[in-house]
Amino acid sequence: MTTPKPIHVLSDYVINKIAAGEVVERPASVVKELVENALDAGATQIEVEAVGGGRQLVAITDNGSGMGRDDALLAIERHATSKILDVDDIEHVATLGFRGEALAAISAVSHFTLTTRTAADEAGTEVTVVGGKLADVKDTGCPAGTRIEARRLFFNVPARRKFLRADQTELSHIRQMFVVYALAHPEVGWRLVVDGREVMRLAAGATLADRLRDIVGAELARQLRPLGLTRHDVTVHGFAGLPAAARQDRTEQYVFVNGRPASAAAIYHAINEGYHTLMPPGRHAPIFLFITVDPEQVDVNVHPTKKEVRFRQPGAIRDTVIEGIRHALQPAPASMMPNSLLTMPPPPAAAGAPGATQTKLLIPDLPPPRTFSFPGLPMIPPAPAATTIATDPATPRAPLSPQAQELKNAAASPWLWCRVLGQVGGLYVVLETEDGLVLMDPHAAHERVLFEQLLKQYTSHAVKSQGLLAPETVELLPAAAEVVRDNLTLLREMGFGLADFGSDAFIVDAIPACLDGVAAQAVLAAVSESLSKGGARGGDTHWVEEAVAQAACKAAVKARDVLRLDEIEQLVVALARADMPYTCPHGRPTIIFTSYGELNRKFGRA
Ligand code: ADP
Ligand code: MG
Repeated sequence: MTTPKPIHVLSDYVINKIAAGEVVERPASVVKELVENALDAGATQIEVEAVGGGRQLVAITDNGSGMGRDDALLAIERHATSKILDVDDIEHVATLGFRGEALAAISAVSHFTLTTRTAADEAGTEVTVVGGKLADVKDTGCPAGTRIEARRLFFNVPARRKFLRADQTELSHIRQMFVVYALAHPEVGWRLVVDGREVMRLAAGATLADRLRDIVGAELARQLRPLGLTRHDVTVHGFAGLPAAARQDRTEQYVFVNGRPASAAAIYHAINEGYHTLMPPGRHAPIFLFITVDPEQVDVNVHPTKKEVRFRQPGAIRDTVIEGIRHALQPAPASMMPNSLLTMPPPPAAAGAPGATQTKLLIPDLPPPRTFSFPGLPMIPPAPAATTIATDPATPRAPLSPQAQELKNAAASPWLWCRVLGQVGGLYVVLETEDGLVLMDPHAAHERVLFEQLLKQYTSHAVKSQGLLAPETVELLPAAAEVVRDNLTLLREMGFGLADFGSDAFIVDAIPACLDGVAAQAVLAAVSESLSKGGARGGDTHWVEEAVAQAACKAAVKARDVLRLDEIEQLVVALARADMPYTCPHGRPTIIFTSYGELNRKFGRA
């Protein structure tokens, strides 16, 4: 038998320490809260400092509104905020903070100094709090704005301290937090100082594109496509990565809702959906997605750290994100775009080279690549006559003019010109392009090309059907046959001439013209099999896409087919014109690109 313990009301001191656990998990959470306060205070310059992975010191300095003495003292009280008055205000809150918890929480578990001054005041105020107890308040000279230092985080919460990781790990969380907010606010100037050393400086007044390049580097930035769309009162903007830049996890996926870093299952599903058929499952393209909705449509008050958000109408968000991504990865409408590489403007002529040239598709009289031989070493056999495709061969490595670069970006074309160097391993096609070296898998490339052709014809009800000289009888397994019988209309719309012959056999007298030359049996079996699977997954569009992908796969050149040079060239041109040239319909890559920058790095030519 246990005797009941007496009940008592917890002191503010204890409450704050408990609450601190919710808001402050690690040094990076301090950075997050203080940076949000700085942004809410209208700062245009924010500096983040960390010493010893943030355990010894986290300090944020801003040039925002600052506080008068009374406010500075109030600010560290629990539930003290200038940002809302009533619960209803949360619905249309435009500031990042509103719970009035952060300063109270941080000062409860650290040696805390707040130094602040408004532009109107002559003297600033310095407030010192140690483990939640006010230690000192005094006048001080300081620039307008606010500096908050939190030293010896969790000095009075050993349990928490034990959970902190190595300095390097804590530091990488801080860095990540810094990057997230620096991306969300390119208009603000940022500085990150680690152990007394400046590790990042980002100029104020930048565009998102500039900021991205500064943060992720030019290499990745080149693989991003601008994204922008408004639908159903939802606006999405930002940049979507090409599938080729995909990675194993979501570390390069940044999502913001109304300027706030956010995560919501609905958004991640939508991103996956947007990249459907472009990537194998489990791969994640980099994306920088800014979603703007009526604040009343979002609930940001799900969790004290406010990272998880909920939407009143997740469907509208989802649709807009999917469509936004699809648009971003597709070329601009034909009216705005040159209709093919043939009419792309050539890159500017290099100094000394004869002026602009006519744009030609193939330049057969190009000298073959030179072959060197060294005594004692086997001679490298000369490559078959190499061909350059598109534009001016005299200036292959000239940088693209801004307009050409823009066209190229808009066209989502992997290259403006390229030279077919040959096939290696009896399979992969090697190309030289203006940006680097490309290896192409002809089977995957052909699949992509056929997939798009057939899908386009299907969706625009313009399927070209090709009659077979001799109609074929195709026998299917019972399950597949049933699917075919149920989907005769769909298959006919896809371009199959098809009649039920009874007992699971069909007479095929026509197939989609772009699949010409393939055994009707193989195509029909593959399509019906995928239809039978697709039915379970639901979604009409997927169904058709999947069926078309199967047909394309069966019809595509086989991996080991030996291709003639002119066939390779046709394929290269067709792939460059594809809407989504980088992957086959099932998401395997069609090309692997190695930039000259990467080659230089690998050869130590930095
Ligand atoms: P919240 O941000 O949820 O309001 P905080 O505890 O983070 O709660 O901050 C309390 C209050 O202190 C804020 O509402 C704001 O008025 C003031 N404040 C905090 N940081 C700053 C700052 N860097 N500049 C100006 N005022 C600040
Ligand atoms: Mg705050």
